[in-house]
Amino acid sequence: MSETTYDLPDGRLFVGGKWETGSGAEIVSTFSHDGSENRRLSGASVEDGLRAIARAKAAQSDPAWLDLLPHQRARYLARIADGIEANVDRISYIQTRDTGKTRTETTALAMSAAGTFRYFAAVLETADEDLTARRGDCLTLSVHEPIGLVGAITPWNSPIASDAQKVAPALAAGNAVLLKPSSWSPLVSLELARIIEEAGLPEGLFSVLPGSGREIGNLLVEHPDIGRISFTGGTETGRRIGEQAGRKLMPLSLELGGKSPTIVFSDADMDQAIAGVLFGIFSSSGQSCIAGSRLFVAREIYDTFVARLVEATEKLVVGSPFEAATQVAPLVTFEHREAVEAYIALAREEGGRVLTGGERPEGDAYAQGAYLKPTIIEGLTNDSRTCREEIFGPVLVVLPFEDEADVIAQSNDNDYGLACGIWTKDFARAWRLARAIDAGTVWINTYKQFSISTPFGGDGASGIGREKGRQGMRVYQRQKAIYHGLGDGPLPWARLS
Ligand code: NDP
Repeated sequence: MSETTYDLPDGRLFVGGKWETGSGAEIVSTFSHDGSENRRLSGASVEDGLRAIARAKAAQSDPAWLDLLPHQRARYLARIADGIEANVDRISYIQTRDTGKTRTETTALAMSAAGTFRYFAAVLETADEDLTARRGDCLTLSVHEPIGLVGAITPWNSPIASDAQKVAPALAAGNAVLLKPSSWSPLVSLELARIIEEAGLPEGLFSVLPGSGREIGNLLVEHPDIGRISFTGGTETGRRIGEQAGRKLMPLSLELGGKSPTIVFSDADMDQAIAGVLFGIFSSSGQSCIAGSRLFVAREIYDTFVARLVEATEKLVVGSPFEAATQVAPLVTFEHREAVEAYIALAREEGGRVLTGGERPEGDAYAQGAYLKPTIIEGLTNDSRTCREEIFGPVLVVLPFEDEADVIAQSNDNDYGLACGIWTKDFARAWRLARAIDAGTVWINTYKQFSISTPFGGDGASGIGREKGRQGMRVYQRQKAIYHGLGDGPLPWARLS
């Protein structure tokens, strides 16, 4: 693992292609391993946001951008991908400082962001328009045009990857993008701005506006010139943004929270299932929308499986995100650790038994950081609040199930519908469950694997719409039908003679 340290972005914002000091409320980025301050910066004010919108509008409607052919526009995306790849170590360092995530994970996230830009460059170059089947004396076409200005609002847990998942397809589609990262992790998005600027994207097409969600996020949602919002974050925020977008009749996508079930049948490969369950919930310290946070284990293997799971959990290495051996790093902030601890207290009140964890690790190495031990809780019912609500931390609840019908019913008895894991050697059963469970993504004998070419998103309280995949670019475009008349004479309706 790289030992190199890098300068953090200087805290200026990227306002419509210009580096400017923000005039909004102060944002303090801290390193949750030791509480040290990364950077203190002035966030974007509404005035900063309005300037960015005006510059974006001018740049997006400029023929120098608007009239580019797809393969010409794709070159910018490919250059951004190159820029990210050339800076992976720097991005990983900044993101680890910003979020407390391990270098291993932030390196993977940076590589995935480069892959996302490269993928959408390819999608753009190969996206054909449709000549539809003729049903009359017309040539009929279905074509796609940019929406104009896109607002992208992202959370703190995987900034570079979630930024790329919105910015790459929206730029590919021919739009200008205004990105509002989370106030807890503003730095890595500013680094992305530097890379995009270096790639030569015409000025004004991209902005990074860290700032208060209620102010600058709200401005993007409400402003009449913003034609689409792509939001990733919590369900309550998503609901509010959805209501605002509804009033504006503005299309949007919402990637929201989850409480994803993982199901272990008695015929599963035990080692594979244990490793998969651990990775599913405790990697990223559980701060992942697709965390497998509700574990259902077949009654006949429940005791043995849970005993082995607890043993394996206690062997996980909790430590500094800069140590190569670390598997569970600190939580993003001290404030967030308190929110997760409140859920552990709630679980106890609801009758849950903490089988392991449930407390902060002891020792000098952890004393200054937002650390929390990986926690497993049993003895709760599926309708308890601990089982229904997203905790977004290293907390797993374990429940037994009787048979297929029971586990389908329990899995689906939840407002969220983001992901699901199934561990079994029975192919037919895996197929039946994969189709029966309400989730945007199902993993069978694996977990938390991702491909940019496979659409991702959730249902119910987990959101609306899909990102990634070939269609991932089209959602940032308007579809237009063109009928080109081929007849020689006038339409027969009018009586001209
Ligand atoms: P939040 O909903 O609190 O914030 C997400 C973003 O929205 C932030 O940039 C925030 O800004 C902004 N925001 C807050 N209020 C408003 C508002 N009124 N109008 C516009 N924007 C606003 O979520 P978190 O940052 O806490 O992220 C964690 C959540 O994200 C979890 O629920 C997780 O499941 C979900 N998530 C979903 C994913 C998916 O793909 N389904 C992937 C990753 C995370 P500010 O920081 O300034 O408050």
